[in-house]
Amino acid sequence: MTDEDTIFHRIARREIPADIVYEDDEVFAFRDIAPQAPVHVLFVPKESVRTLDAMKPSQAQIVGKLAYAAAEYARKEGFAEDGYRVVINCNGHGGQTVFQLHLHLLAGAQLGRFGT
Ligand code: C5P
Repeated sequence: MTDEDTIFHRIARREIPADIVYEDDEVFAFRDIAPQAPVHVLFVPKESVRTLDAMKPSQAQIVGKLAYAAAEYARKEGFAEDGYRVVINCNGHGGQTVFQLHLHLLAGAQLGRFGT
């Protein structure tokens, strides 16, 4: 992580505390500071990618890595069978507030339908 500097980059560098629940060479994950469900974990690539829209073709596998890490986490934590939701917000109308790509994993309760 060198060419961008968001709060998530600072969490990855351990400059800002966060409850990190998973890390490998390419992905790290931590509990969202303002959880929207009983389980709310953010999966973030270590490579800098501002938004889903900014992804280059060579970076397309990053989303697969985030999704796989989230699915593995759900299985390990035992809530895969009950179910969960993954969300990537993109830009303003998508509600993105931190401009380093991240995937939200939401679980632990029956989730509502999508809305405006
Ligand atoms: O998709 P979006 O960009 O809105 O998501 C950013 C998320 O990062 C929010 O859910 C916010 O609560 C979370 N966050 C966090 N820790 C921080 C700053 C933001 O978990 N220090």
